[in-house]
Amino acid sequence: MIHCRNLMKIYKLNNEIEVIALQGLDLDVEAGELIGIIGSSGSGKSTLLNILGGLDRPSAGKIVVDGKDLLRISDKELVKYKLETVGFVWQNNARNLLPYLTAVENVELPMMLKGRHKRERAIELLEMVGMGHRKHSRLQQLSGGEQQRVAIAIGLANNPRILLADEPTGSVDTRTADIILDVFRHLNQTLGVTIVIVTHDTQLMKKMDRVVAIRDGKTSSEILRRKIFDEESLDRAIPIEDEESHVELAVLDSAGRIQIPRDYLDGIGLGEMNKLSVELEDGKIILKNPLSKVNG
Ligand code: ADP
Ligand code: MG
Repeated sequence: MIHCRNLMKIYKLNNEIEVIALQGLDLDVEAGELIGIIGSSGSGKSTLLNILGGLDRPSAGKIVVDGKDLLRISDKELVKYKLETVGFVWQNNARNLLPYLTAVENVELPMMLKGRHKRERAIELLEMVGMGHRKHSRLQQLSGGEQQRVAIAIGLANNPRILLADEPTGSVDTRTADIILDVFRHLNQTLGVTIVIVTHDTQLMKKMDRVVAIRDGKTSSEILRRKIFDEESLDRAIPIEDEESHVELAVLDSAGRIQIPRDYLDGIGLGEMNKLSVELEDGKIILKNPLSKVNG
């Protein structure tokens, strides 16, 4: 469903200053998957989501979503893509909802833009997110978590193939965040819609089968549920008795590059130095501080 290779996004602030928001990002998402994207503030998560949603254009690299090449797509096709292929849920309700309309009127709105006005479907979607009983409530009568569930129904109004959610639990408490994540899981299972959720909440991350970590605009690692990893992996060296539910694997890009966490580099006393010794030994690749006297 989503295929990105070496994806780049450069923002030009003026003639002199450029910000590299994505620098060679790789990502693959299967149809029907529910995937999490995690990363610290400024790592490029929203940039990636906006590009996937057709709200922003990539600068270079490759990105194909549902068979559409988002680097080459015409403006006209992009409008169609935004309307038909993707749905969006933002952290901020004000971006999703119109406060003076009821829940069901809010869900109907995107359907009207597409020339289809279907109250039945709008009610069905509200029921799917557990908000059927509040369909005639005005937005200000609903709690933050309830508004967010209405926002999810809106995101699904045009039956998108992909639902993109940027920090959808960013402004609610932990218990509500849990409920919202369960709504996404339910929709993923019942509708088969592919869902990409950006979060910085490591608790929520544990409820997902696969989470991709982004660092400095590049995919740095993937966190997989251990059960799934063990089933798929031929490498039985991973201890099964380990209590940890997830396993984190560094992502290797097509040029053989990986990102090594700063604290690991600090751990071998690398300091300001930008060189490592790389050795192949007994089927292992060993990275060492070249100045280290310690063996190992
Ligand atoms: P995240 O969502 O992970 O916090 P963003 O994708 O919003 O990160 O931002 C990634 C980087 O790109 C940041 O350095 C940010 O300042 C920059 N950036 C994002 N949007 C713009 C923009 N419209 N113009 C210039 N710089 C931007
Ligand atoms: Mg963001």
